[in-house]
Amino acid sequence: MKYCPQCRADLHTTIIENTSRLACSSKSCNYIYYDNPIPVVAAIVEYDGKVILGRKKEWPGTWFGIIAGFLEKGETPEQAVMREIEEEVGLAGDLPAFLGYYSFFEANQIILAYHVVGKGTIRVGEELEEIKLVAPEEITPWPVGTGPAVKDWLEKRNS
Ligand SMILES: [Zn+2]
Repeated sequence: MKYCPQCRADLHTTIIENTSRLACSSKSCNYIYYDNPIPVVAAIVEYDGKVILGRKKEWPGTWFGIIAGFLEKGETPEQAVMREIEEEVGLAGDLPAFLGYYSFFEANQIILAYHVVGKGTIRVGEELEEIKLVAPEEITPWPVGTGPAVKDWLEKRNS
């Protein structure tokens, strides 16, 4: 971010409460860019005993992840996760089971992870290039992002 969203003046880096932050350079404006983490919902969707992994259109051919997305204004995380599942793979499901929250510092996000048993017929949505159904025991969790949630789910499942 380069310009103040309130007055369009340049933002500059300044120390506020011992933290380096971007703030408006205009003396008559008090805007501070806090850059707080953004919440994201993610779901391990089980379908016929397998987990749905999807590849977003902008991702390289080897990248797959679980269903994830941002909340819309006015949505609870549970509503957001069920909407994302519907949009990305066309499935409904029972109440999502909360698995935990995961800090994703590299993307400045906090991930709220759920497990959902998908119901209905899969229909791949516009955001995804392709999906695959993978048996849980064949999944190797990736190290960042939603991977740690998948790892915890797999470990809980096996205990
Ligand atoms: Zn300003």
